[in-house]
Amino acid sequence: MLKFIRSDLSEFTAYKPHPSSDTGEPVATQFDRLDTNESPYDLPSDLKEKLAWHFQQVIESNRYPDGGHENLKDAIAEYVNESAGLSSPLFTSAHISVGNGSDELIRSLLIATCLQGEGSILVTNPTFSMYAILAQTLGIPVVTVGRNESNFEMDLAAAKSALESTQTPPIRVVFVVHPNSPTANCLTDAELTWLRSLPEEVLVVIDEAYFEFSQTTLVAEIAQRPNWIILRTFSKAFRLAAMRVGYAVAHPEAIAILEKVRLPYNLPSFSIAAALVALQHRQTLLASIPQTISDRTQLITTLSSHPALEIVPSATNFIYLRLKSSQSPSATLTHLYQQLKSHGTLIRLLPSGLRITIGSPAENTRTLQRLQAALANFPSP
Ligand SMILES: *Cc1c(COP(=O)(O)O)cnc(C)c1O
Repeated sequence: MLKFIRSDLSEFTAYKPHPSSDTGEPVATQFDRLDTNESPYDLPSDLKEKLAWHFQQVIESNRYPDGGHENLKDAIAEYVNESAGLSSPLFTSAHISVGNGSDELIRSLLIATCLQGEGSILVTNPTFSMYAILAQTLGIPVVTVGRNESNFEMDLAAAKSALESTQTPPIRVVFVVHPNSPTANCLTDAELTWLRSLPEEVLVVIDEAYFEFSQTTLVAEIAQRPNWIILRTFSKAFRLAAMRVGYAVAHPEAIAILEKVRLPYNLPSFSIAAALVALQHRQTLLASIPQTISDRTQLITTLSSHPALEIVPSATNFIYLRLKSSQSPSATLTHLYQQLKSHGTLIRLLPSGLRITIGSPAENTRTLQRLQAALANFPSP
């Protein structure tokens, strides 16, 4: 143990990303990577060529990137207005902050709200793990509540009492995902009513990482709610996970704080260019979504007919699968996960279910075959 390290950090393990081709191993030929909800489709090669041209002709690699992100923020504001179906545009670049992935924005929000013992955060498990991981690395306490077992609505009674309790530090941020990962459900009316009722001293972060698949957004409410922030990302439907670009939509005052907290050159020039190209060509890039959604429907329908499985509806590019009844659900889930892995499909193993990304049609066919084979080898419940 290094003696100069903060004592609480010794208990953490580093986040383990899935195998990457950066290590030189040919991961793509070994595995169907259906564990991190990326798009199965790379950027089309004409767009890659366009970016390569931009790198050759425009980007000066000896110069710092555009630290103000003005062009990108303008383009994002235009997309956000369009995506909200607003008749007159509500948002400008003053409502947008850009991060090195939404992960960076999550960390900035935590720094801006809870540090120095001023606040703790509330998360509803199971949910995206980065909120709690990043909070813990900053020494910020994490309060967790559970979900309803059948529709995955958060335990609102527990959430309300956590907010009303006189704990120190008080809850300053509530994180929700709309639709949630791994459970694939959108926020319910009751959850929304509660979020709308929260006092101004509590920040509500609504993570819409899967917006392009769900087509449901709360962005139009940002105008009336100074304590709400919406997060989105280029890592999923826009096929740019490698570039690390996410953004926040919020009241200009909240955006000004995020701009203060972030690193001055948080986005590489190449990433800025890639996000701009993706937005310019969004019709082309987002055209793959109907295929993903119809493959999702087919996968859910086929798997739902298996007597041992329960698949909940999904508003995302992944499915969440649970066991109907099993003597030892976690051992069974681990077995299924390992069987799939040994046959070449990486999925996400969670304490009470499996999360499987919708891949290409060929990958989805293999997922189905491998899952059915793994289940056939297993004693029925
Ligand atoms: C994938 C995902 C993100 C994306 O994070 P980036 O840092 O932008 O890649 C954010 N939130 C949720 C819930 C996700 O599933």
